[in-house]
Amino acid sequence: MSNLEKYDAVVIGAGNGGLTAAATLARGGAKTLLLERHNIPGGCATSFVRGDFEFEVALHQLSGLGTEKNPFIMRKIFNELGVMDKVEFVEEHHLYRMTIKDEFDITLPASWKGIREVLIENFPNEEQGIKDFMLLCERVVLESFMGFKAALKMNSADMLMKNSKHYAEHGLRSAKSVLDEHFSDEQLKTLLAAYWCYLGQAPRNINFVDLAMMLYAYGVFKPWHIKGGSQALSNALLESFLEAGGEVQFNAAVDQIITDKSGDKPKVIAIHTEHGDVYETEQVISNASSVVTFVDLLDTDELPEGISQDFKSREIGTSAFCLYIGLDCPPETLGIENASTFMGTTMDEDLMVETMATSKPPVATMLTCYNV
Ligand SMILES: Cc1cc2nc3c(=O)[nH]c(=O)nc-3n(C[C@H](O)[C@H](O)[C@H](O)COP(=O)(O)OP(=O)(O)OC[C@H]3O[C@@H](n4cnc5c(N)ncnc54)[C@H](O)[C@@H]3O)c2cc1C
Repeated sequence: MSNLEKYDAVVIGAGNGGLTAAATLARGGAKTLLLERHNIPGGCATSFVRGDFEFEVALHQLSGLGTEKNPFIMRKIFNELGVMDKVEFVEEHHLYRMTIKDEFDITLPASWKGIREVLIENFPNEEQGIKDFMLLCERVVLESFMGFKAALKMNSADMLMKNSKHYAEHGLRSAKSVLDEHFSDEQLKTLLAAYWCYLGQAPRNINFVDLAMMLYAYGVFKPWHIKGGSQALSNALLESFLEAGGEVQFNAAVDQIITDKSGDKPKVIAIHTEHGDVYETEQVISNASSVVTFVDLLDTDELPEGISQDFKSREIGTSAFCLYIGLDCPPETLGIENASTFMGTTMDEDLMVETMATSKPPVATMLTCYNV
């Protein structure tokens, strides 16, 4: 079958990114088509059932929502999309527990002040370093949202140094070098770097701003659980899109973004699906990975300006191996009292990463328990 219906925009993929983009476009009045290769919406933000158990696939700590009193970006977006009325969010009160065999077992609360207190209580000799480190996290994060964005817009190095000094000086340093500069206690460094695994690279390979962002965002704006799991959020986003008149097709993988190459630069004119359908559009938003989008889907040989440079600057991170486990006892029976627990037999993150790339038994793992 082949057709040539015209849309203001086509969104490839109904993950949370694609759903949010599609709902925003449709609610803004754009005739929008959303194409998803799976038979349900959500991408990673989904759940599945096996026997008596329903397993959440991904989200255990939604970040970016903030509280009613102290809202963050996502709450604003969800309000605009009418999603806050459709989904119930549950505030989590702990950041994480980290337990390293024969070394330490510490739980950090989901509060910026609380984190400082717990850290100082456990590492009194590092009090000044802890205060300085947390202040630097705060400054780098806030500057990355404000001063850095403004300087980028104006393309001004002077403005960057004036308004985002800490970001400019420390944001792109490795997280490890900033931790090393502030602390001598290896346990403290390991505890504070735990979120590295969400980024797939060891602390020496991640930018300080990315670690600071996670600590600050979760500490100040809290981690959230979604009642009904992330599938409930994905369903609500889809509903918001459909209510605004958006059209969706499942089991409809896009296999080509078609361009007109007759001008100076190729221009998107249509997309093609695995079923042979063609939809005319000049605007495509792809929720597929950037590599798939530019290398597999786009029908041009040359990558757009900036994209090849961007690809060269990145390194593929390590992948986690996920086990979905159904228990025949309450979690407390096994000592599981926190929603998120990092566990390890070493504090050497490079060894953790190295082992993750092999079939050797893991030296570190993360346990997330949705029941808690
Ligand atoms: C185990 C795990 C735990 C996580 N925990 C958290 C957490 O606690 N907190 C947090 O904030 N984040 C967490 N994340 C991350 C979060 O789930 C993801 O960042 C987010 O869901 C990604 O959304 P996305 O829309 O960018 O991509 P995806 O969810 O990957 O969506 C991409 C969509 O595009 C579709 N697609 C791809 N190619 C095509 C094509 N050619 N045609 C049509 N459709 C296509 C895919 O089927 C998919 O539906 C976790 C992720 C995982 C895997």
